[in-house]
Amino acid sequence: MEITEVFNSFLSDFIDPKKRIFLGYLILSLGIAYLWLVVIRRTSLKKAHFQIFNRKVFFSKSAQIDYKIFFINRAFSLFISPLLITQIAIATLIYYALHRQNIFYSGQFSGLSQPLVIALFSVAMFVVDDFTKYFVHRWMHNWSILWAFHKVHHSAETMTPITVYRVHPAEGILFGLRSAVSQGVVISIFFFLFGNAVDLYTIVGVNILVFFFHMTGSNLRHSHINIRYWKWLEYIFISPAQHQLHHSIAQEHYDKNFGAALAIWDWLFGSLHLSEEDKEITYGLTGDPAAPRSIGDMYLKPFTDILNILSGNFTKVQKKMFSSSTEKPFEARFWPRH
Ligand SMILES: [Zn+2]
Ligand SMILES: [Zn+2]
Repeated sequence: MEITEVFNSFLSDFIDPKKRIFLGYLILSLGIAYLWLVVIRRTSLKKAHFQIFNRKVFFSKSAQIDYKIFFINRAFSLFISPLLITQIAIATLIYYALHRQNIFYSGQFSGLSQPLVIALFSVAMFVVDDFTKYFVHRWMHNWSILWAFHKVHHSAETMTPITVYRVHPAEGILFGLRSAVSQGVVISIFFFLFGNAVDLYTIVGVNILVFFFHMTGSNLRHSHINIRYWKWLEYIFISPAQHQLHHSIAQEHYDKNFGAALAIWDWLFGSLHLSEEDKEITYGLTGDPAAPRSIGDMYLKPFTDILNILSGNFTKVQKKMFSSSTEKPFEARFWPRH
């Protein structure tokens, strides 16, 4: 591979509308941040400008680690992604399995109008994907082995849109598998029941609902601009302020707001926390002696943590300083827990 090709692949996410940090979405997020500060919060334009481009955030030690992890993980993904099982393989497998059952038959709903089938498929792809994100994210918080990896994301002490990439490669693989399984399941069921009418409503090649999610400032979830929604809307969609709360070190915020786009899963399963007016939030794992601090820690510490967990040495691997669930023995925390 040419060196320019490698470099291009590092920056490809900025020009891919399927990715959250696509330049178009970033520019829109910037516009939303200005609107929020100037129109809603009545901040002067100059103050808003300094608040948005806060050097203490973008050049912090934590942000610098984010940028390094972004590039290192891109390099990892060049090797790992071809190995990942694709949704096509899963979809094919389930599609043939569906032919072996007798409850539904192939093409059972093929008489429905195509616009309706496309709308149903677009919604199902988005909703199932979002639900599995909630489920896997919650599992990562509640099972100590996965928390060892997910801690890398939560060790961020400042947040920028690049923080979404601050994840251990093991978490990247788990999320890649999750995506392949959820999409594979929806694709196979739809093709089995609705036949060839199945298609997606897209804009620039992206599911219209995903496009809408990114257009409305998904990047601001990892930022210091605490945009809140109306109370009723925060039961349906996770606001940036609600995800920021998920990163808070305050005890009352632990294990809240696992959702990605939709808040309804948190609402249904009791982990919803609405945003709070002018709440100062401190991000990170401050106080956790087992928090990863250096780049080396980010990649290797999860493995030593897991070895400690497996050998029963829990004192060396604290979850968070005081988790809401510390009354339970550390090793007993497996999902689901209510
Ligand atoms: Zn989390
Ligand atoms: Zn996050």
